Amino acid sequence: MAVIVYPDTVEKEIKKASKEAVYYASKVAGQLGTETIALALGTLEEDKLSTLAKYGADQVATVHDERLDHFDSCAHTKAVAEIVEQYSARVIVIPYTNNGQGLAPRLSARLKAGLVPGAVDFPRTDGDFVVKKGVFSGKGFAYYKINTDRKIIGMLPNSIGPQENPKAGAVEQLNVTLEDSDFTVQVKDVQKSTEGVPLSEADLVVSGGRGLKGPENWGVIEDLAETIGAATACSRPVADSEWRPHHEHVGQTGQTIRPSLYIAIGISGAIQHLAGINKSKVIVAINKDPEAPILKEADYGIVADAFEVVPKLTEALKEKVAAS
Ligand SMILES: Cc1cc2nc3c(=O)[nH]c(=O)nc-3n(C[C@H](O)[C@H](O)[C@H](O)COP(=O)(O)OP(=O)(O)OC[C@H]3O[C@@H](n4cnc5c(N)ncnc54)[C@H](O)[C@@H]3O)c2cc1C
Repeated sequence: MAVIVYPDTVEKEIKKASKEAVYYASKVAGQLGTETIALALGTLEEDKLSTLAKYGADQVATVHDERLDHFDSCAHTKAVAEIVEQYSARVIVIPYTNNGQGLAPRLSARLKAGLVPGAVDFPRTDGDFVVKKGVFSGKGFAYYKINTDRKIIGMLPNSIGPQENPKAGAVEQLNVTLEDSDFTVQVKDVQKSTEGVPLSEADLVVSGGRGLKGPENWGVIEDLAETIGAATACSRPVADSEWRPHHEHVGQTGQTIRPSLYIAIGISGAIQHLAGINKSKVIVAINKDPEAPILKEADYGIVADAFEVVPKLTEALKEKVAAS
């Protein structure tokens, strides 16, 4: 009856979304009066296993196999499914990261388990098992009752935030049957295109739109982002014009993010853009047009020319950072 959580990793590091998922799973297990088992697939270091305990794992089930260090949706699905069977788990929590989006639907088909992708809150477990998720590009919520005995929750990152919930985290080594032929792809080389916090995990984001006029002006965005330790993002036309890489594009057809702070500079606030950012905790908009739709969505608005106000804002923040 246990709750199993699959923590997504990158370069053997546990992602922030995974810590959040472990905490989430531990609260669901508490609701159901059962325990939380966190999976550790691959060759994670000892301190990473302790991290899983710190965020709420009663038990850490490890499969020490270096072939699992890189995500392969087929092999990981097979491994997770086998472990779910071994523990007779009824609820599986998966952070809905890129890898999670590869794993969850395959697991759902394999285990014949109902899946709610992109859950934003804890489930209701009083009789029925009901999970809340965002719909209509974040403009509404729907409540899904999962009918199957086994249930999979794909948890949207940054929905509740990772919180510590220390548990024993007893480590158990497991074996799963994996043939080389289960691994359908192989990572040959990894080259990072940017340094710093990935956009999907960033708590602070500075984003630029067409109002910046061209890629040569992106220094103002990068300066501000670096000063406050933020990731950079952009609107779709900016990425389409190749001013910025596509992985920075947020919105309906780009990434959906939920940072604590989203600063939109020279972005009009079209509905397709808002769909990717309207769950940010605080939105600050800088736009020279007082009628720009983004100002209606923003918690704080500055009506001004970005090229005048952003360097001043960055200078003021640099002084604050230096004084602290
Ligand atoms: C099917 C579909 C899907 C789409 N998906 C997405 C998506 O995922 N993400 C997305 O972003 N868009 C998406 N779009 C495009 C979207 O409709 C808008 O066209 C786009 O978001 C506009 O980008 P922008 O705000 O950067 O540019 P603009 O609309 O051109 O706005 C530029 C803004 O900058 C301001 N400005 C200009 N100069 C300055 C200055 N010096 N200082 C301060 N402000 C200034 C202007 O007042 C204006 O508000 C999609 C469209 C469609 C049809």
